[in-house]
Amino acid sequence: MSILDIPLGPMQFMAVTAVVVVAFTVAMILSYISQQNRPLGYLRRGERPEPAGESPADEPLPPAVLQEMEHARLSASQRQRLSAVLSGLVSQQVAAKVSAVKHELNRVVEEKTREAMVVKQKYHDTLAHKEQTEAVLRSMAEGLVVVNQQGEVVFLNPAAEKLLGVDKQEKLGKPLNEGLQDEQLLSFVKQPSADGREKEIELDSKQAQSKRVLRSSNAVIEDEHGKTVGMVSVLTDVTKQRELDRLKSDFVSGVTHELRTPLVAMKHSLAVMGEASAGELSETQKNFLSITQRNLDRLNAMINDLLDLAKLEAKKVELRREPTAIQAVIQRTCETLRAWATSKGVRLTAQTPEALPALSLDPARIEQVLTNLIGNAVKFTPPDGSITVEAKLAEGGGEVEVSVTDTGQGIAKEDLPKLFQKFQQLQAGARRAGEAKGTGLGLAITKEIVELHGGRIWVESEQGKGSRFAFSLPVASPSDTKG
Ligand code: ADP
Repeated sequence: MSILDIPLGPMQFMAVTAVVVVAFTVAMILSYISQQNRPLGYLRRGERPEPAGESPADEPLPPAVLQEMEHARLSASQRQRLSAVLSGLVSQQVAAKVSAVKHELNRVVEEKTREAMVVKQKYHDTLAHKEQTEAVLRSMAEGLVVVNQQGEVVFLNPAAEKLLGVDKQEKLGKPLNEGLQDEQLLSFVKQPSADGREKEIELDSKQAQSKRVLRSSNAVIEDEHGKTVGMVSVLTDVTKQRELDRLKSDFVSGVTHELRTPLVAMKHSLAVMGEASAGELSETQKNFLSITQRNLDRLNAMINDLLDLAKLEAKKVELRREPTAIQAVIQRTCETLRAWATSKGVRLTAQTPEALPALSLDPARIEQVLTNLIGNAVKFTPPDGSITVEAKLAEGGGEVEVSVTDTGQGIAKEDLPKLFQKFQQLQAGARRAGEAKGTGLGLAITKEIVELHGGRIWVESEQGKGSRFAFSLPVASPSDTKG
């Protein structure tokens, strides 16, 4: 006899109902899990599945529950009540589940829609920025070429197309030098200077029968990890500027040359007057004569400097290169200037290692550079100060670095960029009375000479803490490395 065969009173009926409800709830949980894969699992045998969208109250009872109900000895009305209670419970739970899932689905859909809108907006903004940047680059007067790490062109603006005489559509994705006929142009784009230094070449323009001068300045493009990913070159047509420079240089050298002749005559006349062979001079006259002679000397020095600079700028100076030990040039210059430094109470020493490679340079011109740098150091260093001239092989061994360090008054930070420009005299008042005033051209000449040798010049200084002027000279001369 099974428990279901026992006739039920009202209390027993309630107990059976409770058992069935618990069994049903467990069955519901299991049913929910299995429904994911087996939607027809709870249908009575032979029953058809409910169409989608049917009321949850019509949900069929799980077979286990129906079986229990059949075995229970319930009257028809009890079964009906139990069935109604269970059906209500099923509907409630299913409705709650459906509403929770719907709610979750709505939330996910809303979130995804919001995210998609943000992405779309960002895409449009980026596109607008890209178009704006490209419009600016397209309208630039300078040519702009961007190449990737393999040297293939990734961007070329119309000005670059014109300057290089190439077609953008044919060049994109290909090496910049591929298909270039002009040999000079080829050498120009073949080795863009990666250190960003400006590079200039002259091109013979076939159409206009005139020379074109292009200047390129390059910069390496790095990603956020500092890895080189390409290079950008800005090309400028400096033909007109070069022509103006040439006219100016010609004018300056012409005028200064013409000024020299009367100056020489004046100098001789004053010398004769000073020797008193043209008559005895009073003390006041002698004084005036000495002032005139000093200023004449200064004028002469300025004219010589101007003439020198004009020639250097016009690249009309031929260097007389010869294998030279830089130590010997330094020693010689120091010996010449030591008496002057000592008279001012300034110590001048040279520190040069013996083992330095011989350099191919013009010794007279490098002596001119050193004379100017050491001369300035003597002028701007007070008594009891010191000047040290050093030479050493720079890191990498490709250059020799020569420096002149003083313990003088130093240079203000804001004045440093102007220093190598023409006619810059920053601290003229700091010299000793009676000392010859400079021309303000010395450092400009010095820079031209160093650059003509293929080197660089720079200065490190702080006001009140002395200065260090340094220049580098390549171990192999530029002509040796050509090709
Ligand atoms: P100048 O012939 O007048 O000396 P330079 O071109 O040689 O012309 O120098 C330009 C200016 O740079 C100087 O007038 C001076 O103000 C500054 N200068 C150059 N060297 C030094 C130095 N060692 N210490 C301080 N100032 C310097």
